[in-house]
Amino acid sequence: MSSMKYVLVSGGVISGIGKGVIASSLGMILKSCGIRVTSIKIDPYINIDAGTFSPYEHGEVFVLDDGGEVDLDLGNYERFLDITLHRDNNITTGKIYQHVINRERRGDYLGKTVQVVPHITDAVQEWVERVAKIPVDGDNKIPEVCIVELGGTIGDIEGMPFIEAFRQFFHFRVKRENYCCVHVSLVPQPGTTGEQKTKPTQQSVRELRGLGLSPDLIVCRCQTPVAESVKSKISLFCHVEPQQVFSIHDVSSIYRVPLLLTEQGVSEYLMKRLQLNHPSPYNNRWMLRWKDLASRHDQLLKEVTIALVGKYTQLEDAYASVIKALQHSALCVSHKLNLKYIEAAHLEMEMLKENPSKYHEAWHQLVSANGILVPGGFGIRGTEGKILAANWARTKNIPYLGVCLGLQCAVIEFARNALGWEGAHSTELDPATKHPVVIDMPEHNTGQMGGTMRLGKRKTLFNCQTCITKKLYGNKEFVEERHRHRYEVNPKFVKTFEETGMKFVGRSVDGERMEIMELDGHQYFVGVQYHPEYISRPMKPSPPYLGLLLASTGKMQAYRSRGYRMSPHLSYSEGNESSDDEISEIVKNLSMEDGPEVSAKDSSPFDES
Ligand code: GLN
Repeated sequence: MSSMKYVLVSGGVISGIGKGVIASSLGMILKSCGIRVTSIKIDPYINIDAGTFSPYEHGEVFVLDDGGEVDLDLGNYERFLDITLHRDNNITTGKIYQHVINRERRGDYLGKTVQVVPHITDAVQEWVERVAKIPVDGDNKIPEVCIVELGGTIGDIEGMPFIEAFRQFFHFRVKRENYCCVHVSLVPQPGTTGEQKTKPTQQSVRELRGLGLSPDLIVCRCQTPVAESVKSKISLFCHVEPQQVFSIHDVSSIYRVPLLLTEQGVSEYLMKRLQLNHPSPYNNRWMLRWKDLASRHDQLLKEVTIALVGKYTQLEDAYASVIKALQHSALCVSHKLNLKYIEAAHLEMEMLKENPSKYHEAWHQLVSANGILVPGGFGIRGTEGKILAANWARTKNIPYLGVCLGLQCAVIEFARNALGWEGAHSTELDPATKHPVVIDMPEHNTGQMGGTMRLGKRKTLFNCQTCITKKLYGNKEFVEERHRHRYEVNPKFVKTFEETGMKFVGRSVDGERMEIMELDGHQYFVGVQYHPEYISRPMKPSPPYLGLLLASTGKMQAYRSRGYRMSPHLSYSEGNESSDDEISEIVKNLSMEDGPEVSAKDSSPFDES
C-alpha cells in the first residue's frame, strides 16, 4: 500500500475548457498549504512523445530539463507549482505500449497472452506509482500528492484503458483516503435566456460512474458564476453534496482560478478528503503573492505592444510558453501586454502582389510595435518575413528578441545587410547557400526525426562582464536553459561578426556553440539559441524576455542607472526576493473579494522614481 495521495482530474463534455489550468490550480492550492506536489499528464495518443507534433494541431511542444518533448500542459504545472518535471511525467499510450511490447520481447510474460487488461492497465498503474515518487522541486524530497490529469474527455475510446487502470488502482491498490477524483465539466448558457444547463454535466458524470469512477469534486466551467440553484441541481442529479460542486466562471486572468477555488473551500475539502493535516492557504505567502499577481494584472493601466512574428499565428497555443513569458515580464514592468500576431509570410514582397492589404496591415502592425519577438520555428515558410522583421528592428533601433530560429534569422539578416554577404542563409533552409552562416550540428542530423535534436538543459557561459543579458541574469557566470534545435551559428564566421558589432556573449561550455547574441550600439537587440520561455515563471520572469519588455516600455535606462537592480519595493525576480515583511505590507489590505489597495503603478519594481 502506498501512502502517496492521488488527485485524478478528468474532463467531461468537451475538451479545451481549461482542465489543465484547474488541475494545476488544485496543485498550487495544495502547495500553498505546505504540501509537496507533483503531477502527471496522460495523453491517450499513440505518439511516443509530442516531439513530432505539428504546432497547428496540438500547440507548442514543451521541452523539459531532461530533454523530454512533452505536452504543453506540463508547462502549466511547472509554472503554477514552480517545479521541474521529467519526461516520464508525461504518459502517452505510445509509451505504455512500447514499454509492454519491449517486456513481451524480453520474455517477461512468457506463456501468457499479453492483453490490455491486465498488462496495459498494470503498466499504467506501475508507471504512475513510480513517477509520483520522483522529486520535482530541487530538494530531493518525495512528493506527498500527485495530480494526475487525464487528457481528452470521458467516453473517448483512447482513454478507456487509462480509466480502467485507475478504477483498479483506486479499488485495489490505493486506500480511500489516499485518492480523490475531480471531474471538470461544462455548464453551457445557450440562447437568449442564458439559462445555465446541467444536462451535459449529468451525462458525463453518469458516463464516468458507468466506468467505475465516482467524482468527489465536480468543477463546472461556465461563462458566469454557477447559480446556487444550479449547483443544487447538479448535486442532486450527480449524487454529490452541494459543497462538492465548484464553479469556475470566465475570469480576467488564470491567476484568479486558484483564488476562486480557494474561496469556495476546495482546500478544506481536499484536506479532509485526503486526510492531510496542513494549515489553510489563506495566509500563506505563496497564495498571497499569487493574489497580488492577480490584482496587479487587473489594475494595469499602461499598455505595451509586442509584435510576435511567427508562422503558426492562427493558433495561440502554438506559442503558449512564449506568450506566457511575455505576460510574466509585462506584468513585472506593470504594463498590459498588447500582443500582435504577425504572420511572417505577410511581410514578404510576394504578399504585396498577392494580397496588398494583408501586406500593408502586417507592416503597419510591425512598425507600430514597441518591441519585436521572433520565436523558434522550423522550415522555410515565413523565414524571409522574419529576416525582414529583424532588419527593421536592427536598423530602426527597435527592441528585438530572437529565440532559436529568431536568433538564426537575426544572424542571417546581419550577414546579408551589414556584411553584404548576398544570399547568406541557414543550410536548413538553403542547403546550397554561398554563405552558410547557420549550419547543422552533425551529431544531431541523423536522418531520424523523433528525439534527435539538441534537447534540454545545457550550460551557457558568459564571456563578457558588461553585457546586458548577463546583468539581466543577475550577473551570473553561467546560465542553464532548455534547448531544442538542430542547427547553429557557423563558428567559422564568428570572428567577422564580432568585429562588425554582433557579439556572441554567451557560449556553450566547450566554446563551440553560440548561445547568446547581442548587438553593439543597439538599445536591445538580443538573440538566444535556447528557449528561455520554458522556465519563465509568473513570479520569476525569464531574463531575456524581461529585457525585451524593459526596453519596449522605456524602462531600460532606469534599470541600468539603478545598477541593474530592480526596485526593492516589489520584485519577483530571483535575487531580489521581497522580505516577508514587505510582502505582508503589500497584501495587508487584501481580502478574498477585493484587489489590493496598491495601484499597479505603485507596485512596479521599475518605476523611475
Ligand atoms: N529550425 C532551427 C533549428 O533546428 C530552429 C529550431 C527552433 O527554433 N526551435 O536549429
